[in-house]
Amino acid sequence: MIEKVGVIGAGQMGNGIAHVCAVSGLDVVLIDREQEALDRAMDIIRNNLARQVRKGKLSESDRDAALARIKTGLDMSMLSDVDLVIEAATEDEAVKRKIFTDLCPLLRPDTLLATNTSSISITRLASVTDRPEKFMGMHFMNPVPVMKLVELIRGIATDDETFQEIRALTERMGKTTANSEDFPAFIVNRILLPMINEAIYTLYEGVGSVDSIDTAMRLGANHPMGPLQLADFIGLDVCLAIMQVLYDGLADSKYRPCPLLVKYVEAGWLGQKTRRGFYDYRGETPVPTR
Ligand code: NAD
Repeated sequence: MIEKVGVIGAGQMGNGIAHVCAVSGLDVVLIDREQEALDRAMDIIRNNLARQVRKGKLSESDRDAALARIKTGLDMSMLSDVDLVIEAATEDEAVKRKIFTDLCPLLRPDTLLATNTSSISITRLASVTDRPEKFMGMHFMNPVPVMKLVELIRGIATDDETFQEIRALTERMGKTTANSEDFPAFIVNRILLPMINEAIYTLYEGVGSVDSIDTAMRLGANHPMGPLQLADFIGLDVCLAIMQVLYDGLADSKYRPCPLLVKYVEAGWLGQKTRRGFYDYRGETPVPTR
């Protein structure tokens, strides 16, 4: 049974993963290469836990217990006694390969490994470890404490025991799982990103304005956010990277990234995080940029 989890990478996803693990009673060791990232992550976790207390979803004593279960550090040797490591570092294959190569000799032989990658092949990442049968994808959605789904992805070598243990753990975190085979972008992003890319083509070809496209999909397809608003939320650089993975990985022109998406990314208009994307967020209310 998994009781202690290591999380590598304390960014947007890593802090959310540490949060849900701690709330579900697991001891957590959160690792990053930068102290600043760890400090920021702990501030975010404290704020998000406080919000759950205010909403009556968590008691004050459960919040205190969850916080006390999280330790942070810069050194992966702190993971020598964990049952599972979830890697949530930067989406860069070279970075992830180096992490797993350096990590394996520090671990117990029975420690399970998972990666939160959105797009890199699970089988390929598993191949750099000393335990590909104990390795799989655990793809959380953003923001982790709120979103219910975790996609589970087996590599070619993943054994049944690893899969069952990680599925049970994910359910213990209160999440629902969906199983995906190890193909580019898995299920959610394979379907979602081409829709967003098509919305950008619709804008590029002048079929509709930003406002018309988002209103049409919110009210016409009952989506909680329009596709362009969602693209800004995800980050346009991330959207482009995922389309590129689909285009390269499936070698099909239907995944061609829209030139307008490329242009926004080249301009540094990456969405909410840079305060400009398909909407301009610098004023009080977002204003469409086209
Ligand atoms: P992020 O940039 O917010 O955080 C990445 C963190 O990893 C940073 O704090 C960085 O300092 C740290 N890091 C980088 N190299 C490291 C190393 N060698 N050792 C320790 N820490 C290291 O990124 P994110 O958005 O949290 O994404 C993390 C992973 O989650 C990626 O694989 C991404 O594809 C995946 N993911 C992201 C989302 C999303 O919506 N952002 C959704 C699902 C999955």
